[in-house]
Amino acid sequence: MTNPRGYILKGRIIDGTLDDPIEQGALVMEGERIGWVGEVRALPQKYLDSQLEIIDLPDRSILPGLVDGHTHISFGESRSEEENALYTPVEFRTAKAIYYAKKVLQAGVTSAFDAATTYNIAQAVRDAIDTGMFEGPRFTVSGKQLTNHQGLEDSFPNGMEFPPGQSAVLVKNRDDLVEAIRYQVKDEVDAIKVSGSNDNLITPDALGSSAFTYEEFRIMAEETHRLGRICSVHARSRDSVLLSARAGFDNIFHASFIDDEGIEACIKNNCVITPTLTLLVNILEAKQSLAGASSASAFQAELEAASENLRRAYDAGIPMIAGSESGWSPVPYGQWHAREMEIFTTHLGLTPLQAIHANTLAATRLFPRYGHEIGKLEAGRLGDVLVVPGDPTKDIRILQRPRSFDFIFKGGRPIDRAPDQPRQRKWYEKTKIFLDGLYEFDEEKGLGVVVR
Ligand SMILES: [Zn+2]
Repeated sequence: MTNPRGYILKGRIIDGTLDDPIEQGALVMEGERIGWVGEVRALPQKYLDSQLEIIDLPDRSILPGLVDGHTHISFGESRSEEENALYTPVEFRTAKAIYYAKKVLQAGVTSAFDAATTYNIAQAVRDAIDTGMFEGPRFTVSGKQLTNHQGLEDSFPNGMEFPPGQSAVLVKNRDDLVEAIRYQVKDEVDAIKVSGSNDNLITPDALGSSAFTYEEFRIMAEETHRLGRICSVHARSRDSVLLSARAGFDNIFHASFIDDEGIEACIKNNCVITPTLTLLVNILEAKQSLAGASSASAFQAELEAASENLRRAYDAGIPMIAGSESGWSPVPYGQWHAREMEIFTTHLGLTPLQAIHANTLAATRLFPRYGHEIGKLEAGRLGDVLVVPGDPTKDIRILQRPRSFDFIFKGGRPIDRAPDQPRQRKWYEKTKIFLDGLYEFDEEKGLGVVVR
């Protein structure tokens, strides 16, 4: 069904703000943009007299396409740091990223923030989609993240060269900070991301301190803003949150161990938080495939601390943005994008409407590209619109079943919903493990036994 003139959709309107839904609502789609939104009885006659296709949607909800605040389109569902940084050739990674971008769109995500890329793949995917070559969400891209030896993504031993496939630039001194930002901007990023702390995923007991000093965060925030970009930071520890917020960062990813001082700094400097708790929850659920050196208890402890601390931060007035962290193997593309909203209700106590806001209009603050044209059902904005069964303000999990959606519109056009063939993995994508354990010889039995 494609009508070049447009559509009148009638159903429950959930517009992306915190306003109550309009039960008997209508939305007019004219070309690639929204022409009108409101109560169906107020619908101007001129739309009814035009050639628009009228679609009546009883017990359906109409809401903005999801705006995912944290994805990694180039990570290819990697199962380890090694797989992500070392093995797959850049050309094949790029082809995979384009393949996965369509899956992300088919999950109802019409815009996504890419929160670190290997090579410059995310920029290429963004531009390939924006110039009409492939189907996918509208991406805002933060390029490679700036890290130092204490930050996430300086993953390998000192005796090794820093790998070119690592999703980071290694900065070694203060001059490097400025140089790296200028280099990223020349590579056409929309935002800068800094790796402000390490991560339980990589290093046990890594959550104690900040990778950068306050002075260093300030240099990065100032140069980023001078060049007209927004700055984000990966910051799980208390100190990294506090120092980056004080230094003027716009967005903090995770903020699990934020305390009252950190909350105060965020409020003073207008800083938002994108927790991406989905990654922690999924890893805990998928205990079998736990990555890295840390145990489940470290993730459990972080989730518990984050739930309490982020609730306090939200109550204090810091906006929360929903991001899925899709791209790693615990969060495959196209499957978990709406889960963060459910976790916001179960772990942080948000209402479903607040959670939807966090995954639509609130998230647009991170999107310098298209930000004012997406995330809300409003005349003049782009026609990125979902039509879903039932009422997600009563059951937020409805949004986790995109195959049940009636329509996913991007730019006023219903997207192709047909699933692609599952892809096969190439041998070079794998983590190169001979055997996940030791094949020990049992002398008594005279047999080999795998010991993990
Ligand atoms: Zn991430």
